[in-house]
Amino acid sequence: RAKSQQRAGHFYFSRSMGVEIRERVRMMHALRTAFGQNQLFVVYQPQIDLATRRPMGAEALLRWQTPDGKFISPDRFIPIAEYSGLIIDLGAWVMRTACQELVDLRKAGHLDFMMSINVSQVQFRHPHFLETLRKALEETGAPPEYVELEITESMAMEEPDMLIKMLGQIKQTGVSIAIDDFGTGFSSLSYLQRLQIDRLKIDRAFVTEITGSARGSSIAEMVIQLGRNLGLAVIAEGVEDERQAQILQALGCPLAQGFLFARPMTATALNGWLNNDTLEGAA
Ligand code: C2E
Ligand code: MG
Ligand code: MG
Ligand code: MG
Repeated sequence: RAKSQQRAGHFYFSRSMGVEIRERVRMMHALRTAFGQNQLFVVYQPQIDLATRRPMGAEALLRWQTPDGKFISPDRFIPIAEYSGLIIDLGAWVMRTACQELVDLRKAGHLDFMMSINVSQVQFRHPHFLETLRKALEETGAPPEYVELEITESMAMEEPDMLIKMLGQIKQTGVSIAIDDFGTGFSSLSYLQRLQIDRLKIDRAFVTEITGSARGSSIAEMVIQLGRNLGLAVIAEGVEDERQAQILQALGCPLAQGFLFARPMTATALNGWLNNDTLEGAA
């Protein structure tokens, strides 16, 4: 690649790019080692019903803690996993782990609970994606109707025909599909209508804006309305304070996720959190 670009005369290998690439390669190796040595784990962030404040499900989120205790953000290492191809194995592992956790929660009595799993576009485009999904469901025994895949809006924008076909095949397994970070891309209404999706996730940026200026809530409002018109569920992400929750509820948003309700937590902590919540509800 570098060579052909060089030949075309557009490629300048600056010193800072060298540092940048070296850093990326270093991280790529570190990530691979970390994955092999079980330094990666999955945490779960509850999703709640805004009206009742009851937990309805959780989103699985990947974590990397290095041996010296530092956390590296998925916003940093997911792109590297994608770039190196490791995301295929890593993503399959997250899928299986989250499905297994769903099954374990069900065994503990939490039956009406959804598990949302993030899927990278690199995973999604891989020819074995469907097989990986089916295997994760079958081998863990996770009920597909309680599993949701999150794809990003920017991903939904590319290759519409391929996406429409893939979504149709995914839907046949029984899992549902959410569009993550919704509002940050530019999907047209007519295009959205052609996609077999179940939920829209309002991006945190628009939730943050809600309490700002008078017009701050306009995008959140639009997404909620859009969901209603298309018959899709809507969930707001990144809800950090009570005022945001109140406004979202007043706008007709049924579901939310954010630090106000719970931070992402380990499987063990989630089980405890759910048991506590049930007790509180019963008291
Ligand atoms: P995302 O899928 O949009 O996930 C939501 C992010 O918002 C998570 O960040 C979560 O910890 C954070 N968040 C939730 N509530 C709040 C809040 O109230 N305030 C603030 N400030 N943040 C909140 P996280 O875990 O760092 O993940 C970042 C991104 O990395 C995710 O964004 C997702 O795109 C990607 N990611 C994480 N795990 C996976 C994975 O297993 N597979 C793939 N493909 N991507 C993943
Ligand atoms: Mg997500
Ligand atoms: Mg998101
Ligand atoms: Mg995001």
